[in-house]
Amino acid sequence: MSHYIVLVKQVPDVTQITDNAFDPETGNLMRGKLASVINELDAQALAFAHHMRDLEPGEKGKIIVLSMGPPMADEVLRYCLSRGSDLAVLLTDRALGGADTWATANPLAHAIRKIVRDLLGGTNDYFIISGMQSVDGDTAQVPAQVAEELSIPCVAYATKAQLTNHHPEFTRIISGGSQTVTPRSIPAVITVAKYEFPLFATVSGARRANNTQLINWGADDVKPNAFGVNGSKTRVIRVFPPDKTSRKCIHIKDVRQFAQTLIECSKNSDGKESRSHQDKPRYVLPHKRASKLDRSFEGMQKEVEAFAELTQQLESLGISDPAGVGEQVKEKILAHSDAKTSKRALEEMLAGMQNFTPTYQGEVWVVAEHKDGKVNNATYELIGKARELADSLETKAGVALAGKNIQPLCDSLFAAGADNIYTIDHALLEEFDPAAYRKVIAETIARYWPQIVLYAATPQGRSLAPMISYRLGCGLTADCTSLDIRDSSRKGEIAVLMQTRPALGGNVMATICTKDSKSQMATARPGVMKRLPPDVSRQGQIIPQEVKLSESDLSFNIIRTEQAHGQVKFDEAEIIISGGRGLQSKENYQRLLSQLCTAVSTHLNKQVERGASRAAVEQGFVERVHQVGQTGTAVGPNIYLAMGISGAIQHMIGVASSRSIFAINNDPHAPIFKQCDYYLVGNVEDIIPQLVEFFGDNRERTPK
Ligand SMILES: Cc1cc2nc3c(=O)[nH]c(=O)nc-3n(C[C@H](O)[C@H](O)[C@H](O)COP(=O)(O)OP(=O)(O)OC[C@H]3O[C@@H](n4cnc5c(N)ncnc54)[C@H](O)[C@@H]3O)c2cc1C
Repeated sequence: MSHYIVLVKQVPDVTQITDNAFDPETGNLMRGKLASVINELDAQALAFAHHMRDLEPGEKGKIIVLSMGPPMADEVLRYCLSRGSDLAVLLTDRALGGADTWATANPLAHAIRKIVRDLLGGTNDYFIISGMQSVDGDTAQVPAQVAEELSIPCVAYATKAQLTNHHPEFTRIISGGSQTVTPRSIPAVITVAKYEFPLFATVSGARRANNTQLINWGADDVKPNAFGVNGSKTRVIRVFPPDKTSRKCIHIKDVRQFAQTLIECSKNSDGKESRSHQDKPRYVLPHKRASKLDRSFEGMQKEVEAFAELTQQLESLGISDPAGVGEQVKEKILAHSDAKTSKRALEEMLAGMQNFTPTYQGEVWVVAEHKDGKVNNATYELIGKARELADSLETKAGVALAGKNIQPLCDSLFAAGADNIYTIDHALLEEFDPAAYRKVIAETIARYWPQIVLYAATPQGRSLAPMISYRLGCGLTADCTSLDIRDSSRKGEIAVLMQTRPALGGNVMATICTKDSKSQMATARPGVMKRLPPDVSRQGQIIPQEVKLSESDLSFNIIRTEQAHGQVKFDEAEIIISGGRGLQSKENYQRLLSQLCTAVSTHLNKQVERGASRAAVEQGFVERVHQVGQTGTAVGPNIYLAMGISGAIQHMIGVASSRSIFAINNDPHAPIFKQCDYYLVGNVEDIIPQLVEFFGDNRERTPK
């Protein structure tokens, strides 16, 4: 009889964010303006736990819900009680506030230990079920870090549970497919990526929810060893509204005009460079700058300006070395600064100007991802970024490469920009197992302590990175869209990694820095960083690593893996036409999309490839190899045409590099319309035949 501890979180209702939810002065989101709801994936996790409990024959175990948050988070616990949970624990304490994922996972894991001890009689027969991520944090780190603190397996991205010969089996999303696994030991953490069988409150449940006393614990009750702001390994530098989309978002009402715009855009295929890769001035280490006083690489514009002003004042006073600034000069500077600068700030800036020593030492590493002898594109992209960062920092770009028989992959990694490859070759690393990979990669990192470690924000990277970072006591920022080296001279930090990422479902951006860590760690979304053109003449060093691994280091047995197979030439296609769930059926997808691809390809004399959303693949419209997106392929054609696709973030990050995005959807409020260049509102079943007719009728060929 297994018990279930379900982690639930109260989050702001991000679907209700409007422009007036932002402070007009600071641009910060005013969370108080938003209603609070249960995190949707946690609600799904609760349903998943009920499903697991129902699978078991005989006596049923308990479902205990646990939430960490302010006192008002009791609402989500009552939500769960009204849907059949047996007990609810609220971990609430001011001291726990302001925590990052590291300092959230630690108290949660300690609370789980207490639940097991005090409420479950010390049993080992339990699962911790959690939503894969929350909409406010979006990091997917906490559950994996809870597993790491408790030293138990973590099955991430689960979508299905079943019992086979009394053994629980979980189907989970992996890059390019799905996999069914069974944990080798229990307890285990299961994170739920999708489980759309909602639980409904019952009248008796609602009554019980009102009458049940919640169990309230504070920090002293669970005794975490890292919590709150002080226990966090990352620090938010600033929060700001995202740039307005650079997409045009033009509504076209007429099918002919839509087709003609597509033809026009197809002619502009030169410079097919990603829009997201605009070059910024590259960081220069302080000792390499022309002037000793140059502090133009601060993390915040405000500080760049403050330092520029101070430099100007020092220069006008004939001072070229800030070390010699005495009290009299300070007074003069303060007198000229319109009371904007305090004496303390001035002294911090003067101290910062004398600091030339980078805060971190070591190489810039990428943890490589590969499958069936092929390196994941995202790894090459990250090596491109690592190369750039390493050049700025005057260090080497390294790659940690774990697997079985991995030597043949090294050439392409060198060609992509790596200097050193740390190979960890072992028979037990043939398939990706998070616990085994975490062990060997963490050991290798701890041997060399690179100053930066980058992972791809794929399902694999997003489960591995939190475990490694937690094990090594390092901060981790998830899903970065920009990584820059900058100084925070006033705080005494030189050449640190500024990690910028979207949060709250992309409604805000946050720049984050690592603190109290030996390495700065980040994951970055596929398709966001720029792969360098391969240079096959590049050479580097392979540095093999000794590892000790045994079967007991594996966290689960793989029952089966379903991976996409087949030939889809996304790289060569100038135009990709993708179909989503809106195409309604396999028959529609196959017939309508094929007709349109043929008509467009014939008319424009360009290579056209068929793509699909994950939902279309899951509906069986087309094979998985056609899937575009975070767990499919990231594409960057000249023209991307989305038919009946809503525009979920996991789909859109896979098409971000496309030059022009066209969309057709029958919902005038479809999110994709805010992320594309041209759109048409209408039913794809009506519009595709009209487009086919248009391209068929206008047969004069557009020159290539
Ligand atoms: C870990 C994880 C990884 C994921 N990876 C990916 C990924 O790689 N790629 C991916 O695509 N998704 C991925 N997803 C899933 C993603 O969140 C969305 O669920 C998915 O993209 C939705 O696909 P869709 O737009 O086709 O379906 P829906 O969201 O159901 O949208 C269908 C759209 O069709 C429109 N429509 C309906 N009928 C018609 C009609 N007759 N004519 C015109 N329009 C119509 C509707 O208005 C709607 O906007 C991932 C999810 C998770 C949790």
